[in-house]
Amino acid sequence: MARYVGPVCRICRRYGEKYFLKNDKCLTNCTLTRRPKPPGQAQVFRRRLSDWGIQLQEKQKAKYVYGVLERQLKRYFEEAVHRPGVTGEVLLQILERRLDNVVFRLGFGGSRPQARQLAAHGHFLVNGRPTHSPSMIMDVGDTVAWREGSTKKEYYRQLAREIQSKVLPGWLSLDMQTLTGRVLRLPGREEVEYKIDERAMVGYYSR
Ligand code: ZN
Repeated sequence: MARYVGPVCRICRRYGEKYFLKNDKCLTNCTLTRRPKPPGQAQVFRRRLSDWGIQLQEKQKAKYVYGVLERQLKRYFEEAVHRPGVTGEVLLQILERRLDNVVFRLGFGGSRPQARQLAAHGHFLVNGRPTHSPSMIMDVGDTVAWREGSTKKEYYRQLAREIQSKVLPGWLSLDMQTLTGRVLRLPGREEVEYKIDERAMVGYYSR
């Protein structure tokens, strides 16, 4: 797969923010804490980024956070352009509603990559139907539940105990008895965790 698989906290250092691309590495041992400078040669002169540089950077951030490929992101952008609303916000809403992100935000996986793997391995039912596609976009009203076989696993049992304290974003709900999640509404701009400048991202694709 062509998504980024290099040292995860190199991304944290480049953008000066913890990205939690791996379960707990950023909590306990993020290289950003020890070396709070962008990776690469010692940067004597910090160059200011051009408009294009900023647009590129914001687009790259979104790719890393959501673990999507260039052509996928481009496709989401084109879809966002054709929908009503502010293109950048619609684009973020599409990214947030990917199954792997919903699974992560519900607390079913400790990181987005882990959530993606759970989804790809077919642990979930979306609206009662099994899926192996982490990239499917969930709509308002859609549900995600655990497949019966998966609920017998130790991972699920432990999760069922620990998830009770999870704080959910307002656009999702979770039935604690069955661990079934639901998309209540579209995510709001302020509910996106990361500081991604979506207008710069739109600028990148609009050139
Ligand atoms: Zn990190």
